[in-house]
Amino acid sequence: MPTMVSREKINHIIEGYDKSKLTIATACSHTSLQIFDGARKEGFRTLGITVGQKTKFYDAFPRGKPDEFFHIDSYTQLLDRTDELIKKNVIIVPHGSFVEYMTPKNFEQLEVPTFGNRRVLEWESNRDMERTWLESAGLEMPRKIDDPKLIDKPVLVKYDGAKGGRGFFIAKDYPDFKLGIDHTQKYSIQEYVLGTRYYIHYFYSPVRTEGYKLSKGVLEMLSADRRDESNIDEIYKLGSLEELKKLGHYPTFVVTGNIPVVVRESLLPKLIELGERAVERSLQLFGGMIGPFCLECIVTDDLKIKAFEISSRIVAGTNPFISGSPYSDLVEPGLSTGRRIAQEVAYARDHNVLQEVLS
Ligand code: AMP
Repeated sequence: MPTMVSREKINHIIEGYDKSKLTIATACSHTSLQIFDGARKEGFRTLGITVGQKTKFYDAFPRGKPDEFFHIDSYTQLLDRTDELIKKNVIIVPHGSFVEYMTPKNFEQLEVPTFGNRRVLEWESNRDMERTWLESAGLEMPRKIDDPKLIDKPVLVKYDGAKGGRGFFIAKDYPDFKLGIDHTQKYSIQEYVLGTRYYIHYFYSPVRTEGYKLSKGVLEMLSADRRDESNIDEIYKLGSLEELKKLGHYPTFVVTGNIPVVVRESLLPKLIELGERAVERSLQLFGGMIGPFCLECIVTDDLKIKAFEISSRIVAGTNPFISGSPYSDLVEPGLSTGRRIAQEVAYARDHNVLQEVLS
């Protein structure tokens, strides 16, 4: 059974790199525009990995266009073409789509230095482990319902690994659940939390020392968004969910875009604390997540914050902030998450601690 590429192997590759010619690479999708733009602003070369997709659209966004494209037939082919990437001193910035397209298993084996700690993958892709992590960190999550017969209030049924909420459905009792469930997929049931959604984008640096200090490194909050989800965000215009169900229209949660938001300022201390707790616990459990992460939260009308998910890499919700956000501007004017990643690589390179931020 193939295993995750070892730290020794990655450290060995980093030792052989020409540090004056590092190249920041990612797959041409998701958050690539801000990753390339940010890397260029920090003086890196950039490389865009493409699998048959059109690249002409980058000509419309020249500052977000990579210096070079790296065409492959399939994402698994990357595993066999690592030598070419290593020759170019490549550091891969994995975004959600990159990991999804490669598959987490292949991504774990990829013998190219990647930004962040790959050990976080198993903790976030398994819903039970994710819950163990966050709840043991002291974060409140939506209640989990183990037996569908016990559904007595609205719940959300989530399929494992479902991307963008595809196939999720709301049920308010057991008959409702039976109507909607697809037994061929692994699922989990959680309380449907009524409130307003905020997706908070943090950045954890294990190597910097100035700022909001944790037991090791510092934490920043760079921005926040709300997802635009089709069709749940608009379905109310047609009538009540119950009426629509009778007509065969079910709500879906497919992400189609992102809206910038700010939270009430009085919630900021709590949000910073939640980020801090998630990082501190990750340090104890698996050596820590590194760089950007997102807590997906719902704030209830009694101002309680429940986190229903964590993403431990750059999320697409950071895209509205290529030229900064109301929060990142207070760290450094015009700072995007993509640029912050490039700054972290530059800082680690200049302080000779690249192995602390790559895996
Ligand atoms: P997820 O794939 O877990 O990010 O969930 C997809 C979408 O479902 C979210 O963006 C929310 O709109 C919604 N959602 C997820 N969990 C809950 C929950 N416990 N209560 C209410 N809405 C939720």
